[in-house]
Amino acid sequence: MDKLNIDIEKGVIEPRELSASDRFKFKCYPGIGCFNKCCSAMRINLTPYDIFRLKNRLGLSYDEFLIKYTQPAAIDRTPLPIVVLKLLDDETKTCPFLSGQDGCSVYTDRPSTCRYYPIGRVHMKKVDQPELREFFVLVKEDHCLGHQEDKEWTINEWREDQGVDFHDSITRDWLEIVIKAKSLGMMEFSKGSLDLFFMVSSNLDMFRKFVFESRFLSAYKLKPDLVDKIRDNEIELLKFSLKWLRFALFGEGDFDVSDEAKVKAAEHRKKLAEVRKQQLQRREQKAEKDIAHMRKMKKNRIDN
Ligand code: SF4
Ligand code: SF4
Repeated sequence: MDKLNIDIEKGVIEPRELSASDRFKFKCYPGIGCFNKCCSAMRINLTPYDIFRLKNRLGLSYDEFLIKYTQPAAIDRTPLPIVVLKLLDDETKTCPFLSGQDGCSVYTDRPSTCRYYPIGRVHMKKVDQPELREFFVLVKEDHCLGHQEDKEWTINEWREDQGVDFHDSITRDWLEIVIKAKSLGMMEFSKGSLDLFFMVSSNLDMFRKFVFESRFLSAYKLKPDLVDKIRDNEIELLKFSLKWLRFALFGEGDFDVSDEAKVKAAEHRKKLAEVRKQQLQRREQKAEKDIAHMRKMKKNRIDN
């Protein structure tokens, strides 16, 4: 059972799928009785843009931020490595950015997870359906009094008010990779692919070195004005890195590459397809074994 189902069972998440136009009542403000109660004991996945905003806010390098404020994890239902916010080692596992009665000390640069709350964005595929569905859920924790307020929102109005639609637009290519990985189940990625994913997702300084201090620019024929743009502008480099990651992992997108790089990419995709084929075969064999085992158990019960 995955985390979503466990949380539904615990009653934390309403077992109701919401669309972008569905409405809910909620208001959060300084002075509400539960102020700050939501800022502890929660898992906060950090997107590439969350890390970018937070490390700039704190005036740190990527390495400094990652060491001080994060720990490694994997995205739910995928092997994709990311970092999550490292909570304080105190009794309530408090967020390191919670500042006494003043609330969030990085509020205008808070991560997407905090902006979405109390909404959760879910991508799910039913076993008998080929397509992944996107929907939203409402998180209702006992301590959160915001649900008792009268202010009403549609999901879209909430996303706009909290700035998550802008965050999602910056990380659109990265989110597409995550959604695709989820739709493939616990697909095996090569170690090289996972390393690339981790580097691009968490450390733009490393990606910058990868682009400007390796053979990258001879493998990828980028227009000179694009090279200037990603050299001089960090947010352009971030957007480029996510677009490139999608191309490197799934061959999606439009990149002009050298013949040598094309051959390498084709070999990589061939290997990936082979790994997926083997994985599918193993799954089918396991399913057949499970069915045979269940039939045998049923027959034994009838015989006895
Ligand atoms: S209303 Fe909910 S989200 Fe707002 S401070 Fe209280 S617990 Fe946190
Ligand atoms: S980043 Fe801010 S809003 Fe998010 S959990 Fe920490 S203190 Fe709360």
